[in-house]
Amino acid sequence: MGVKMGNKEVNKKYYLKNKEAINLRNRLRYGRDRLLICIQRRGDLKMKARYLANKKIKIPKGQLCVACNLVQATERHHEDHAKPLDVKFVCHSCNCILK
Ligand SMILES: [Zn+2]
Repeated sequence: MGVKMGNKEVNKKYYLKNKEAINLRNRLRYGRDRLLICIQRRGDLKMKARYLANKKIKIPKGQLCVACNLVQATERHHEDHAKPLDVKFVCHSCNCILK
């Protein structure tokens, strides 16, 4: 049992000593930017493009789908996932076809 207690003490000391680093690690691991880090690690261009576009590009209100020109655009379509901010505003059904 003594060993267990000892470990607890060590953990506490370790935590206090590395509080900043641990907090930062936890924030990165569980925080808002978790998805981005996950994407960066995986190097998935498609995911990254979607994430960036979602974050940076707002679909203008009243924007019609550029493909059918009939309904309001609700999605962003990437012609080239290497250009994450180069998007076309399309409706859901057109985006399904374009994909
Ligand atoms: Zn459409």
